[in-house]
Amino acid sequence: CKLFGEVDDCTCKIDSLESLNNLQVYPRLDSLLARNFFRYVKVNLMKECPFWADDSKCAMKNCAVKTCTAEQLPYGLKNADGECNKYAKEAQPESPRTAPPGEKDEDCSEPRGDLGYLNTTISKESEEAFKDWTKYDDAQETFCELDDDTSPNMQYVDLLLNPERYTGYKGESPHRIWNSIYKENCFKPAEQSGYNSQSLTEKSLEDLCLEKRVFYRMISGLHASINIHLSHQYLFPASTCYGIETWGPNNDEFQSRFDHEKTDGRGPQWLKNLYFTYLVELRALEKAAPYLEQEDYFTGDDEEDVSLKKGIKDLLRVIKEFPNHFDESRLFRGNKKEAKALKQEFREHFRNISRIMDCVGCDKCKLWGKIQVQGMGTALKILFSGDGMGPQSTVSAGSKRKFQLRRTEIVSLFNAFGRLSSSIHAVEEFRRRLS
Ligand code: FAD
Repeated sequence: CKLFGEVDDCTCKIDSLESLNNLQVYPRLDSLLARNFFRYVKVNLMKECPFWADDSKCAMKNCAVKTCTAEQLPYGLKNADGECNKYAKEAQPESPRTAPPGEKDEDCSEPRGDLGYLNTTISKESEEAFKDWTKYDDAQETFCELDDDTSPNMQYVDLLLNPERYTGYKGESPHRIWNSIYKENCFKPAEQSGYNSQSLTEKSLEDLCLEKRVFYRMISGLHASINIHLSHQYLFPASTCYGIETWGPNNDEFQSRFDHEKTDGRGPQWLKNLYFTYLVELRALEKAAPYLEQEDYFTGDDEEDVSLKKGIKDLLRVIKEFPNHFDESRLFRGNKKEAKALKQEFREHFRNISRIMDCVGCDKCKLWGKIQVQGMGTALKILFSGDGMGPQSTVSAGSKRKFQLRRTEIVSLFNAFGRLSSSIHAVEEFRRRLS
């Protein structure tokens, strides 16, 4: 699985990307994602599949998701996943580590609708303008359908207790998901009908414009990342010797999915697409760095929050120093009308993919699928929502608005990037094991 040359559609050498990730990004990110701010997410795993009768049965024991109650969360993340953290902070100037038993955070208990944004700069006076912006944002700029934060089906999940790994989810259900993502939602060469992912080779990709190649590569990169994780955290059945199940890397599983010969040469291409997706999210983090450096990352524990902020600054420093970022300015250029229509199409296809995640028939896979697609959508929102991050950000002609990210978007962006980073790290490990 040694890959050579440059990542397709980028000017970045694979070697330099691997050393950036494995030596600098992965160790930093791995420790940041274990911190309270990133490990707890609020998610709706019960949303109905909008496309076909839901076959989500979760009969397999490894598909079960362990949820937690609001009481188990750090103080600052209680109620709405901390999206109202500004208000929680105001109500609790001393930021106790845990709230007294039974205490209800009144400010956060109301359905907050538009105010569910993690924004440190919003004042009461700007609330009206903010609501307008949120509407605009939801209609125009987001690439994902986010879960409705006020739904009674939202649950808290500790990601560390629910790692992405082999679940045994296979067969018709995941094939239907992957097929519909590729077939219905990826752009295909005009002359190609009856498309399936198998037929999309590098050769046929050449017929697509850059934007459509980017789209396909991002989906394929996500697919590769998921399949690397299930091969790397594989469940070995109880052996007659030890009598217990064990988790660990499965060389055969990895080879059957990515080996050049076993995949008719497509496996290495899929790995390259993983690297491509990584570069897109890396660039989004670089672009959003001024914004992300200003966030509070509030969990209710002052010491923890200060130290996490420091860790994030350090990670962003490493990312900013990397010279070969994905160049999003090459996309949606040329004829303005056509570029606008293409961008709209791109966004709609991506939003559709986020909705397909509600059809995944294994809760654990659905959890990580939703987080990763949302993280990718957040990266796209960052890359294509104007040129600046912060107060000067111009998002549409004539209207200057502040760029906003919700807590859930920030958490999913870092976690999604963390998944890609850990996949690239795992590729290195498989390379060593197979050499
Ligand atoms: P699949 O991975 O199902 O692929 C189907 C076909 O797509 C392949 O035959 C190949 O032609 C093509 N293909 C494969 N990889 C790529 C690629 N990278 N780019 C383009 N084309 C490709 N299983 C788990 O054990 N744990 C999980 O956490 C998990 N999460 C999942 C999340 C989602 C959203 C989905 C849809 C599935 C998930 N799965 C998970 C299932 C897993 O991805 C596979 O679908 C399953 O293991 C069956 O694999 P397969 O060999 O049949 O090929």
